[in-house]
Amino acid sequence: MVKKKKNYHYSKSDTHLTVDADELSYEEYYALTHCGKKAENRKKAAQALCDYLCDKFQITHCKVWVADRMYPTRYGHTYMGLYWWWHKVITIYNNMDFMTPCTNRSFADVLLHEFMHHYDYYYLNLSESVHSKGFYSRIRDLKAKLKKPKK
Ligand SMILES: [Zn+2]
Repeated sequence: MVKKKKNYHYSKSDTHLTVDADELSYEEYYALTHCGKKAENRKKAAQALCDYLCDKFQITHCKVWVADRMYPTRYGHTYMGLYWWWHKVITIYNNMDFMTPCTNRSFADVLLHEFMHHYDYYYLNLSESVHSKGFYSRIRDLKAKLKKPKK
């Protein structure tokens, strides 16, 4: 078997292993992980965190939309979030199944994942945001920096 050449977009994406900030505020992330399970509260907290991050990285803002239901199963996926780069919109499905909201932690994880797509396009100016090793490494870094309470 011929080994395929590594995809251009993956190599580009893998050159950035961390996000471009030394310190990040703890407040917005904390608020999001402690806002309860209602879609409207999560939407507010998620939008606040997203606005904070966009300001921090000086990129265009991104709208967060939280659907008070689960991801439509007719698409056959189990995604909980979507990012629409041409609209600059993040959609997050609040529920794991028909009526059960996902945990605060997984909700926040979905937001950070979708935000990273936004960061890829508008901060890193990548022509495609792919799920590369670098992409997941940036999310880990972002999360670690958000989780750390500041003195
Ligand atoms: Zn993704």
